[in-house]
Amino acid sequence: MNTTATLSARQTHCPDQVADPRQDELVLCPHCDLLQYLPVLAAGEQAHCLRCQHQLDARQPNPILRPALYAASALLMLLLANLFPFVSMALAGNRSEIHFFDTSAVLFTEYQQVLAILIWLFIQAVPAFCMLAIIYLKLGMRYHLPARIWVARVLFMLKPWSMVDIFLMGLLISFVKLVATAEISLGMSFWAFCLFCLLHLRTFQVLDRHALWASIAPSPQPDTEVTAGSTGLDQQLKLCHCCTAVVPLRQRHCSRCHTKVTARLPASIQKTLALLITACVLYIPANMLPIMRTVSFGDVTDSTIISGFFMMWQDGEYPVAIIIFLASVVIPIIKIVLMFWLCYLAAKPRHAGAKHSGNIYRLVDWVGRWSMVDVLVVAFMAALVRFGLLASVYPGIGALVFAAVVITTMLAAVSFDPRLLWDNQQPAAKAVQYRQAEGKIK
Ligand SMILES: [Zn+2]
Ligand SMILES: [Zn+2]
Repeated sequence: MNTTATLSARQTHCPDQVADPRQDELVLCPHCDLLQYLPVLAAGEQAHCLRCQHQLDARQPNPILRPALYAASALLMLLLANLFPFVSMALAGNRSEIHFFDTSAVLFTEYQQVLAILIWLFIQAVPAFCMLAIIYLKLGMRYHLPARIWVARVLFMLKPWSMVDIFLMGLLISFVKLVATAEISLGMSFWAFCLFCLLHLRTFQVLDRHALWASIAPSPQPDTEVTAGSTGLDQQLKLCHCCTAVVPLRQRHCSRCHTKVTARLPASIQKTLALLITACVLYIPANMLPIMRTVSFGDVTDSTIISGFFMMWQDGEYPVAIIIFLASVVIPIIKIVLMFWLCYLAAKPRHAGAKHSGNIYRLVDWVGRWSMVDVLVVAFMAALVRFGLLASVYPGIGALVFAAVVITTMLAAVSFDPRLLWDNQQPAAKAVQYRQAEGKIK
């Protein structure tokens, strides 16, 4: 059930359920800075911001047991995915069989160590750490284990960099490309990996971030009278992005997670623009340099992102060609253009439609990581297709440069502070007040 956060502690989210007003908690929306009371939620209910509709909280049944069990099952599946044969390929009487860890290990031996480490981090290390961290934090809720604040901070920082779902998409694309020329057999580890992807996704779905931080320490509440329905800046309050606590403007560090807290991300527009310009510069060699070298019956072909798309199109593999074109060409360009546009809107003195531009920000932030699919396809195919002069695939330097483009645009989205879009809807005095407040706390 969806509900919106209340502006008054006397209102409850559900007419047939009387919430204790003393338990309603003050929260600041991370996307629009609106100060509002979070009603007491029942299991299965969600609270959304009144102004921008961003999800503020989602209460889960069994907040300790379910995420811990899902995470433990996911880890078991990841272990199985590494123990047995992953995929095998037969071509003209030759057979190639790989394990899951070969996807990054083979790149390491092909003098692509940086790309190998990145892919190992994205599909093995970060997902495994996230699952272990969730188990540790959930056990910590019961047994009060040490260093939970540090573990929770790293967990939420690393979450967007877990790309197992994108790798699964890359596997499916690779199979479509290979199945026309070779016989593909799926090993036991492949099915374990599929289950790992589902369990990994489900673990984050049932993870109650608000309850998790509340179990580490209660959310610090303002010691002065505040008015819900205005912005945090109006009330001399700011949001801790790490643990969602409401922190007085004069205070440098969050009293719950000890992270340094600023009213707005420092130099947000400048950092975002710098990263976007870097992405634009890298995007040129990423498209000029070969992303993949293919050897077929002694013929060597270097393919860039665009030429790879045309080859697939000519071969009649239309769905795969369209997915690769969308992920590798359309999404990065649209993301870069839209992020430039959002920076322009955030810097503009006044503009209308902050809710609309906030939705655009959420969309580009979510969709940007899917551009990594082409790099993961190359990594997987380079590991599997190894038949010497008969048929082989080698990663090109363009794959590393394109991965750098995707990482840079993801960092640009993280550096952008969507609250700036809402700040500029206020009178100009608000911007002056913000700069004065920043001066006070620095
Ligand atoms: Zn909001
Ligand atoms: Zn905090």
